[in-house]
Amino acid sequence: MEKIKLAAEIINKSEFTVVLTGAGVSAESGIPTFRGPDGLWKKYSPHQLATYEAFLKNPNLVWEWYSWRREKIKAAEPNPAHISIARLERIKEKFYLITQNIDGLHKRAGSQKVIEFHGNIWKEKCISCDFKRESYEIYKDELPKCPNCGNLLRPDVVWFGEPIDHDILQISFDLVEEADCVLVVGTSAVVYPFAGLIEFSIKSQKKVIEVNLEPTPFSDLCYISIQGKAGEILPQILNYIVR
Ligand SMILES: [Zn+2]
Repeated sequence: MEKIKLAAEIINKSEFTVVLTGAGVSAESGIPTFRGPDGLWKKYSPHQLATYEAFLKNPNLVWEWYSWRREKIKAAEPNPAHISIARLERIKEKFYLITQNIDGLHKRAGSQKVIEFHGNIWKEKCISCDFKRESYEIYKDELPKCPNCGNLLRPDVVWFGEPIDHDILQISFDLVEEADCVLVVGTSAVVYPFAGLIEFSIKSQKKVIEVNLEPTPFSDLCYISIQGKAGEILPQILNYIVR
């Protein structure tokens, strides 16, 4: 309880709050995490479904998996953690959210200042040219083709072994540098370069508040580390946030 009040006090005093979120936030909406495909997909490793090599080898399989995930995500709802973060954006004058989640649930909850670090499952891009589009299609047999060049479209997400878009990386580090308070929610903080944002926040003496189910490699270094469900902790912190 004390930690929650203290976290709220820091956010109240903060002039520029940056929130970093990961799979833990989506998991509370019932979205299966990247690290453990469930049910039907158990026999595949993420590397058989989420690499460019896997896509070139078997685009039908990869699109089938992403279509299945689109259906799961469509049926899911933003949870109190998403809603609290969207509320915080409306309260704080200077605010930004950087998420690892590709499901778009933050936007559905009302967040507008969002950087989707690993892309968005509702976007597609051509494997050959610059064509991109938004799409809510479910693909079964026929795969999407680029209207410009006729090559395959792929999900516009960052796969294993792929670099983060240079501009997104630059803007994200710039935002964290400018922030005085960094709230890290629902991430195990082991996937780089995203975890580098947390590392950088700590090294540059930001007030880092962590909310996660389990301790992370950064827990002892954070200003405050709270263990628990984001969907329970964040609404409690919001109760003490001054408008
Ligand atoms: Zn194309």
